[in-house]
Amino acid sequence: MDFPLTLRHLFERNHQLFGRSEVVTRLPDKSIHRYPAASFTRRAMRLAAALQKAGLRKGDRVGTMMWNSYAHLEAYFGVPLAGGVFHTLNFRLHPNDIEYIVNHAEDRFIIVDDVLLPLLEPVRAKIKAERIIVAALSDKPVPAGYESYEDFIADAPAEPMPVTLEENDAAGMCYTSGTTGRPKGVVYSHRSIMLHTLAAGLADALAISNRDTMLVVVPMFHVNSWGIPFCGVMTGARLVLPGAHLDPVSLLDLLEREKVTFAAGVPTIWFGLLHALDKEPGRWKLQPGLRTFVGGSAAPEALIRGLDKHGVKVVHAWGMTEMSPLGSISRIKSTLADQPEDALYALRSKQGMPSVLVEMRVVNEQGIAPWDGATMGELQVRGPFIAARYFNDESQKDKWTKDGWFITGDVATIDAEGYMKLTDRTKDLIKSGGEWISSVDLENALMGHPAVKEASVIAVAHPKWDERPLAVVVLKDGAQATPEALRAFLAARFAKWWLPDGYAFVSEIPKNPAGKFLKSKLREQFDGWTWDAPV
Ligand code: AMP
Repeated sequence: MDFPLTLRHLFERNHQLFGRSEVVTRLPDKSIHRYPAASFTRRAMRLAAALQKAGLRKGDRVGTMMWNSYAHLEAYFGVPLAGGVFHTLNFRLHPNDIEYIVNHAEDRFIIVDDVLLPLLEPVRAKIKAERIIVAALSDKPVPAGYESYEDFIADAPAEPMPVTLEENDAAGMCYTSGTTGRPKGVVYSHRSIMLHTLAAGLADALAISNRDTMLVVVPMFHVNSWGIPFCGVMTGARLVLPGAHLDPVSLLDLLEREKVTFAAGVPTIWFGLLHALDKEPGRWKLQPGLRTFVGGSAAPEALIRGLDKHGVKVVHAWGMTEMSPLGSISRIKSTLADQPEDALYALRSKQGMPSVLVEMRVVNEQGIAPWDGATMGELQVRGPFIAARYFNDESQKDKWTKDGWFITGDVATIDAEGYMKLTDRTKDLIKSGGEWISSVDLENALMGHPAVKEASVIAVAHPKWDERPLAVVVLKDGAQATPEALRAFLAARFAKWWLPDGYAFVSEIPKNPAGKFLKSKLREQFDGWTWDAPV
């Protein structure tokens, strides 16, 4: 049967079956916005019609610069229903990167939350988007010179004009940070999103059902919130979108009040929650069996054990923007369930078994590594929801092997049971609170300081942010520079959260025979570095 896999199917399913399910959003003023899914589908259709009326052609990109909210969910579906491509923008990036990404993707329209407009304004004159549509999440009027999202959709017909959607048409897009150079665009087709949604929803994956209430903490600008909103729309689960309030108390209040059964976010978020739960035991009554999906960075065993004590079950997952993102998930196989408790915790803290439709292998100088849990190598993956190229960027072809495997930049082992464990990274990036920092960009900038001879920036473990940048610096003979001076030097060029929190002055940086910094040596040397200034 020639039936294309498109998001229209999920959308119509939700519209026909789950109109009374609820979408709950925490607004910037902390109040709660609720509407039934019937309003979501009605408004998404109007958005689709409004975009068509504004001249959107098939394949045109629509940028979204938005918190997790009902309006963002409307864009997730309204844009592709009109034949367009929703392109989520990471508003935490430096304005120069935002400008590059919007122009590189050729976003024709941008939908932006009113509260995020100040982040778009500095680049407004430099981006080529034709129209900026402002979604009002606060009670302030939309500023002069911008058009309101509410008016935009109110002026449109109730339904879009029919568009033929093919399963290989682009539906969504997301940029990911590169080690060097500019961010790289990943395009998701209708088909890849559909297959990912089916694979992610399975009982051995995220196990999402119509009876769930899902708190989506992972940003909707980050790989489609790991695909969770699509699973929610498919199943008619209740969606809870926390907006800008990601502090532990706000999240715990939402978990309790909305009787959340499923939540997903990066380890930094869950460490915050664990700390709050430990500090005030009994303050929050969470749903029995609440499960949390933790990924984006490694979920340490201490986090899994800690949350277990509060009845919160952590499931550890690994993925990448290029993988839609769900690559692996660490659930205990029935045939391993009778192992001692310590062994089970060790297994749960591995990144886990490949998801359905994902194939994995570990490759090193000797070839394909055996699944022995010890032989390390670079992790490669392939499957129908793994990107085959970056958007309009031929410079990155070496990220794929000749036989079509994507080279992840992660170093891993796979054990005899098929559980993958990440041991290192070859990509020169630092992951702080779920967001990337390019060590190469920082060290290149530092080496532009008149007192600096050499600088290498490495990731060092941090109790709150998982990793933070440490700058290892060799000063020129007789030159002087304080950490404060180097920090001020970098501050002009990088977002504040990118700036290294520590500076170690050394006489030499270890190098390989080709003269490249040996970061693995440096990481060993500075393992256990104590951050003196709390970040
Ligand atoms: P992104 O494309 O921004 O989602 O980042 C993907 C990268 O984040 C992976 O290649 C890993 O380096 C890292 N990552 C994601 N999940 C995990 C995890 N569970 N454990 C360790 N690293 C992870």
